[in-house]
Amino acid sequence: MSTTILVVDDEVSLQPLMQQRFRRKIKAGDYTFRFALSGQQALAMLSNEPEIDVLLLDINMPDINGLTLLSQLPELVPNSRAVMVSAYGDLTNVRTAMNRGAFDFVMKPIDFHDLELTIDKTAQYVRQLRSSIHDKAVAELKARFFDNITHEFRTPLSLILAPVDHLLQNPRFDESTRRSLLTVRRNAYQLLTLINQLLDLAKLEANRLPVNELPGDIITFLEEMVNSFGVMADQKQLVLSFSCNVRQQEILFDADKWQKILSNLVSNAIKFTPANGKIEVTCMVGQQQLLLTVADTGIGIPAEHQSRIFDRFYQVDASNTRAYEGSGIGLALAYELTRRLGGQLSVESQSGKGTTFTVELPIQKVISTNRTKPALQPQPSLPPWEAVSVTTYEHDDLTQPLILLVEDNVELVTFIAESLMSQYRVLTAANGQQGLEIALRELPDIVVSDVMMPEMDGFQLAHALKANIETNHIAVILLTARTAVQHRQEGLREGADDYLTKPFDLTELQLRLRNLLRRQQKLQGYYQRQLNNPDEKATPLEAESAERLAGQDTFLKKLYEIIEAHLDESTFRAESLAEEVAMSVRTLTRKLSTLVGVSPARLIRTYRLNRSKELLKAGHGVSETAYLVGFEHPTNFATAFKEVYGQTPTYYVLNGV
Ligand code: ADP
Repeated sequence: MSTTILVVDDEVSLQPLMQQRFRRKIKAGDYTFRFALSGQQALAMLSNEPEIDVLLLDINMPDINGLTLLSQLPELVPNSRAVMVSAYGDLTNVRTAMNRGAFDFVMKPIDFHDLELTIDKTAQYVRQLRSSIHDKAVAELKARFFDNITHEFRTPLSLILAPVDHLLQNPRFDESTRRSLLTVRRNAYQLLTLINQLLDLAKLEANRLPVNELPGDIITFLEEMVNSFGVMADQKQLVLSFSCNVRQQEILFDADKWQKILSNLVSNAIKFTPANGKIEVTCMVGQQQLLLTVADTGIGIPAEHQSRIFDRFYQVDASNTRAYEGSGIGLALAYELTRRLGGQLSVESQSGKGTTFTVELPIQKVISTNRTKPALQPQPSLPPWEAVSVTTYEHDDLTQPLILLVEDNVELVTFIAESLMSQYRVLTAANGQQGLEIALRELPDIVVSDVMMPEMDGFQLAHALKANIETNHIAVILLTARTAVQHRQEGLREGADDYLTKPFDLTELQLRLRNLLRRQQKLQGYYQRQLNNPDEKATPLEAESAERLAGQDTFLKKLYEIIEAHLDESTFRAESLAEEVAMSVRTLTRKLSTLVGVSPARLIRTYRLNRSKELLKAGHGVSETAYLVGFEHPTNFATAFKEVYGQTPTYYVLNGV
């Protein structure tokens, strides 16, 4: 390894002396010397030839001294280091030099043996520095590349999977077409799994895969995971079983990682076990650890390969393995994930007899949280193979809800729009900015937005919608290409009501839309009842919905307060109310119709009539009450009252209220 050294010294005799003393090193190509006789000359050389590893700087020089030169190095050659050459005993200058970042110093007269050691030590440091800078840059580049590339893969995959799912729901196709479609679907999912695995591995390598633990019953979780492979096992005529030494155990765990580890092991077992074999998954809960074994009666792994199967891309015997699909990534990922969780993954196997993988994971038990379900629903990373559910939609919406789609991929947005058109009115926007403008103008019921977009991204859009009183009742669904939990959290923090990970299943989007709309309707029902009967209590479900649509309660309360303040003014109308909350009548009308399902005028009138009942109860006369609640004529009041309550105010009072 060659080291290039720049000697900066005004002493002319130093040059031949160095060349003489280090002639062997120079000849062997270990050292290459450059000489500068002044600081000025050194600066010129450094800007032309920055590949200097080590600088030898004399402190005392006429024009630019060594200390001044030293302070300019970080800018010129940030990844080189300087050794100061100083007059014997000049400790003040040496200290200054060290403070300015010199790596080391030698005293004059120079001890050449010491100098050689110092140069080598400095050069080694420089090399380490450069390689770590390089490694870091490469790791970052890689991580960024993977992030981008998965995004690029996921969008087209959405465009393959979504239409295929759509077609599969159509009963018109015959069996052979369906089989072809299923093949497309299966392979697209496989591609997706592979991309996800590569991404995870890259993240693990760059130390960017955080552990997200939540409490839950791990046993149910594992059992459901194993059961999700039932269809696959049946198809290969394999017996798949799960057993555990306890029936339930609440622990803190990262469901996503546990799932990936187990599903890799189980799918391998299924893959490498011929028909009529057996696969047993067992779990043993100890005090501080959980032992999970996946044992199969399959082809086994020859001893000489066992140490390498956890290596990336490694597959036992290429010719034999070709009979099996695969990439050799699954086990590497399972291994790294287990380590990330502080555990161990090991294998025992006998060729032709079978294989047992053992996962040992540390666990932290928690007091039961009364939760019967696992912390996260297991979502098989493998496709629900051939099981395709056919969902039919009732179509009883007369006033079709308005959906705004914000997505920059024209093909995708067209596709989604077309498939929603039969049930919804659909608007589209190509970026967040445009989406926001349309949302403000049209006040849709739900906004479905991509996250990564030019101009304004999905998070910013969600934030803008939720921060504006005119639009904060609109539900937002974010479509994110990234599965990372922090992205979901960011989305939810910005006020998104729901999110979907791309590539998403069209059915899922439709279900989510339907759920959100149902929630809105439920809430609308509650607000309507509350309007008609102010003492009305919310059911727990409504309370939860109301909480999710935080701010709406306050908004309605504010409206009621304003109406109350103008109760006896017969001229107080929808326009006045809108003006008080600084909205246009049109906006207020749209917002109230989504929220309560009534117009502003209706809201005011109902409020007036409710209050009139209270006033009548309190003993006010009918005419007086009519004026107090803002009716110009008692007759109008009586008519309105009868219309709503089925009896005249007089009758109401007579009947004993
Ligand atoms: P892939 O299954 O995609 O090839 P993996 O990393 O999951 O990659 O597995 C690496 C290799 O280890 C497999 O190709 C196979 O040769 C071997 N292997 C893994 N699990 C088993 C098993 N249960 N029985 C036999 N061989 C296995």
